[in-house]
Amino acid sequence: TLKSVFEQTTAKFPEKEGIVDERIGIRWTYRQWEEEVHRYAHTLQENGVSKGDVVSTVLFNTSEFLTTLFACSKLGAVFNPINFRLTKKEISFILKDAEPKVVLFEQATSEQVGPVQSEMPGTEFWSIDGGGESAKNLYDELSGKTERIDTRLDEEDTYAIMYTSGTTGNPKGVLHTHRDMVDQAMAIALTMRLTPADNGLSIGPMFHCAELHCAIFPRILVGAGNVVLHHYDPKETLRLIKEEGITTMFGAPTMWHMLIQQEFKNDDIKTLRQGLYGGAPMPPSLTKELYDVLGIGLVQAYGMTEMGPAITVQMEDDQIRKAGSAGKPLVNQEVRIIRAEGEESGHPDDVCEAGELGEIIVRGPSMMKGYYKRPEATEKVIRDGWYYSGDIGMMDEEGFLWVRDRVKDMIISGGENIYSREVEDALNDHPAVEDAAVVGEPDVKWGEQVVAFIVKKEQVTGEEIDEFLLSGNSLSRYKRPRRYEFVEELPRNASGKLQKFKLREEASNIK
Ligand code: AMP
Ligand code: MG
Repeated sequence: TLKSVFEQTTAKFPEKEGIVDERIGIRWTYRQWEEEVHRYAHTLQENGVSKGDVVSTVLFNTSEFLTTLFACSKLGAVFNPINFRLTKKEISFILKDAEPKVVLFEQATSEQVGPVQSEMPGTEFWSIDGGGESAKNLYDELSGKTERIDTRLDEEDTYAIMYTSGTTGNPKGVLHTHRDMVDQAMAIALTMRLTPADNGLSIGPMFHCAELHCAIFPRILVGAGNVVLHHYDPKETLRLIKEEGITTMFGAPTMWHMLIQQEFKNDDIKTLRQGLYGGAPMPPSLTKELYDVLGIGLVQAYGMTEMGPAITVQMEDDQIRKAGSAGKPLVNQEVRIIRAEGEESGHPDDVCEAGELGEIIVRGPSMMKGYYKRPEATEKVIRDGWYYSGDIGMMDEEGFLWVRDRVKDMIISGGENIYSREVEDALNDHPAVEDAAVVGEPDVKWGEQVVAFIVKKEQVTGEEIDEFLLSGNSLSRYKRPRRYEFVEELPRNASGKLQKFKLREEASNIK
């Protein structure tokens, strides 16, 4: 369980620095951190939280977030981290679905959380920084007790409910067990070759499982250090890498992109030995640029909240040769590409040939238990023991996975399937293109046509980009965008994913 992972690390490395959070001026050894975890656990217990009860957080990256998480694991309570970027309405939906006993939030999220408080009289709302008018302050509530709490836990007990980004419809709560997380953390720690000498920086949002399960848990498992940055800022990231001697960190592709826009010397990042990215595709052009600027290869992870999340990893050595691919399955995950037409998913044994596109299905020990309170939704995605990802991809001759699109984002024009990723990668290859996304829009003649949204680095026109695509021979003619829209930036969510529904809306408004 996560409880025993934390306890074992504390027992092995009591005097090692476990967590650093400048925001509240703390630098705790694992032993000091565990004491604080117990204080939180007693506090929750005194407020009626026991095994199976839910505790929600609407927090940015804070040590309080992690201390609450491990306090929950001491009690067997279910941790429910909520995306701090969600609207009032979305947060209200999640809180009413999850029915927590306690909600922790902060000044920066009080506008979205505050209004829900009066609608949930049975729930405690605690602010970690005095923000939010009628809420209590966590630090006023904190118990003086630090004795060990020994709740009996089973590895299949639920550790968390994590609501997925839900780009369509209401968010769904993914249930993960303690065992899921230990299996995932072990696989990642092994893959990233983490040791107690590592020191990680959290720049990715902690509420998302990519940062939490693929960076923080593996580090805690091996007894490495953890430095917390409240919210992403590339300058602050560079400062902390230098001052704290950061060796490893995870970031969404956009974060790495922003990082290399800064001015810095190689000496400033000399301790950084590895980096991890994932959660959204990275154009091969950016992968290569990162390699040139940082001087280290990055590891990519592909996956989804439902799977814990990581499924495949692209190792440093393959970054350039296989740029654009998502790599190979983690040691304890299995991947298949199966034949499927549109949204009609196929049979798990109807496996595609190498190079043939189909739906990506996966299985492994970190697969979710199911969606909270939604058995039909669970049955739709987990069939015959496989999780149907809703992603389209292919496996090449060497066993590398290439993710091409979401089933729902695929564009069908003149009866031909067009996969966004292929078009976007080709657009990103143009030197004047900073960022690109394509969506389909209804078209009387073709059914759908491709619309491109471009953020430009320098002056360029749609015709010039079109000529580039025509001359490059990398993209079939029919896949070229029929329309170009130039924008300041592309809409992305907190984990760096493109919000294509927003672009589709915009395309129909501009038309
Ligand atoms: P989430 O559950 O929020 O983590 O979203 C999972 C989805 O993000 C996947 O189904 C993919 O569509 C996308 N995704 C995650 N990692 C990658 C990656 N490395 N490359 C391409 N798409 C990715
Ligand atoms: Mg499991």
